[in-house]
Amino acid sequence: MLTEEQRTTVERLLIREREQTLDAIGHHDAEVQDLRDPAGELSQYRFHPADLATESQEKEKDFMITSMEGGRLYAIDDALRRLYDDPENFGKCARCGRDIEWERLEVIPETTLCAEHARVLDEETGAADAADPREASRAGE
Ligand SMILES: [Zn+2]
Repeated sequence: MLTEEQRTTVERLLIREREQTLDAIGHHDAEVQDLRDPAGELSQYRFHPADLATESQEKEKDFMITSMEGGRLYAIDDALRRLYDDPENFGKCARCGRDIEWERLEVIPETTLCAEHARVLDEETGAADAADPREASRAGE
């Protein structure tokens, strides 16, 4: 279980990441509203399903970026909601229930899986791009 200090750190990381993700999507004018009101937040957010047809490579690329950021925004909002609603269980792996490594939470605060099960999921889905680039760059250091 996270200490109160760690939870505060995670909250700060999530809010910062949320702002960066909104910037990346292009919602520069989106104001950060009361995050403790997730219903209001979600209604602003429009996720484009991945099976939408695309007309050109360029559009597809734009779409992938938006979709990836959109997915991340969704994960961040979800993490904040979990943090506020059920702080005692935040930071536990959704698969094994063990505490997620703190070093991992500091890099990917919205994750719901420990390092081991994130790797298992990657292997199961076979999605090479499911690996978070932030971890990859960190591992390369
Ligand atoms: Zn696990």
